Amino acid sequence: MFAIEKDVDLTSFNSFRLASKAQFFAAVSSEDELLEALEFAKKQAIDVVVLGGGTNVVFTGDVPGLTVHMSNKGVSFDGCDVTVAAGEQWHELVDHTLDKGFYGLENLSLIPGTVGAAPMQNIGAYGVELHQYFSNLQAMNRVTLESRTFGLDECEFGYRDSFFRRQAGAEWVITRVSLRLREDDSPDLAYPGIREALDDKKLAPGAVNVARVVSMLRRQKLPDQRSVGNVGSFFKNPIVDKTTAARLKQEFPSIPLFAFGDNVKVSAAWMIDQAGLKGRSCGDIEVARQHALVLINTGAGTSTDVMTLVDEINAAVSERYGMTLEIEPRFYPASPFRD
Ligand code: FAD
Ligand code: NAP
Repeated sequence: MFAIEKDVDLTSFNSFRLASKAQFFAAVSSEDELLEALEFAKKQAIDVVVLGGGTNVVFTGDVPGLTVHMSNKGVSFDGCDVTVAAGEQWHELVDHTLDKGFYGLENLSLIPGTVGAAPMQNIGAYGVELHQYFSNLQAMNRVTLESRTFGLDECEFGYRDSFFRRQAGAEWVITRVSLRLREDDSPDLAYPGIREALDDKKLAPGAVNVARVVSMLRRQKLPDQRSVGNVGSFFKNPIVDKTTAARLKQEFPSIPLFAFGDNVKVSAAWMIDQAGLKGRSCGDIEVARQHALVLINTGAGTSTDVMTLVDEINAAVSERYGMTLEIEPRFYPASPFRD
C-alpha cells in the first residue's frame, strides 16, 4: 500500500550501511504512485532523491525532502526485445533473459542494484556495457511531471557515465528500460579471465556458462555487499591522453594501460595498490585488502571517515601519478567532492 512515511531509517537501504534518515520516504510500485509521490514533493516544494538498490550511493547525512524508492515490477518480452520496470533487480533480469534463450547480458551477471539505475552509469563489466543492448527508456520529470521516452543517442552513454548523471539528467526518474537482446549464443569472451575460467571448468563457451564463470570470478574477487558494507568500485579508471600514458609507462613500466578510443585507460586499482593503500583505514572505513578499488565499511563507518580516506587516497595518487581519481558512487544529500 502506497504511503509517504516520515523519518525513515535508510541504513538498510544503502549497501555501504551508512546511517541516514529520509525526511520523507515513499516506496513506489507503479508509475501512478510515482506521479503521486512527485506531486506531493512539488506541493511541499521539497527535493526528490531517487533510490534503487542503494548499491551506488553514499549518504553524507540525513536526506531532506522525499526519497523515492523504486519498487515497480514487471518484465515483458516481444521476441528478443524486453521491457523491464525500473524496480526489477538487474541480476534477476540477466538470469531471466538467459532462461528465455536471449543473450547479451551474460557478462553483466551479478551486478547488484535495479534495472532503473543501470542506465545511470551505463553499467559495465567484463568488456560489455549496457548501451550495447539498450533500445530506449521511459522516464518521468520530477519538476514538470511529464513522461517521455529517451532513445540511445539522447542518453549520451559514456564510460560509467550518461546524461542522467549530469545536472539536467538528474531531473528524470527512470521508470522502464527496453533492451534488444541477441538470439545467437555467441558471447563476448575477449575480457581476460573468462576464457581461462571456462577452460579450467571444462565448460563450453556459451552465454549461460559465461554468466556462471563471471559470477564465480566476481564472488572470488569482490566483497559481497550483503555481508560487508561496500558500493563496488569507489573510483573510475582515469582516461588520459597518449602523452600522459607514455609518461606514466616510462616512469612506471608495469602500470596497466588499455587502449580507449584515441585515449588510454589507466587502472585505478593498480595505482591505489602500488601506493601502498590496500588495508589503509579511517575509522571503520577501509581500502579492501581483497580489491583496492573497493572501500568497505567494517562496522560503524561514517561518511566523514569515507571522505577522510578518499582525501588520503587522492593525495597519494596525485603525488605519485599526477592525477585525481573521479568518484563513481553518488553522494546525498550533497557531495563534498567535485562531480
Ligand atoms: P542506487 O545505488 O539506488 O542509485 C544509484 C544512482 O542512480 C543514484 O544517483 C540514484 O538516484 C540513481 N537512480 C537509481 N534508480 C533510478 C531511477 N529509476 N531513475 C533515476 N535515477 C535512479 N557497477 C557497474 O557498472 N559494474 C559493476 O561491475 C558493478 N559491480 C558492483 C559490485 C558491487 C559489490 C557493488 C556493491 C556495486 C557494483 N556496481 C557496479 C555499482 C552498482 O551496482 C551499479 O551502479 C547499479 O546500477 C546501482 O543500482 P542501484 O539500484 O543500487 O542504484
Ligand atoms: P580486473 O579484471 O582485475 O581488471 C582491472 C581493471 O583493468 C579493470 O578496471 C578493467 O577496466 C581493466 N581491464 C582489464 N582488462 C582489460 C581489457 N582487456 N580491456 C580493457 N580494460 C581492461 O577487474 P575487476 O576489478 O576484477 O573487475 C572485473 C570487471 O567487473 C571490470 O569490468 C570492472 O569494471 C567490473 N566491476 C565494476 C565494479 C563497479 O562498481 N563499477 C565493481 C566490480 C567489478 P574496466 O573496469 O573498465 O572493465
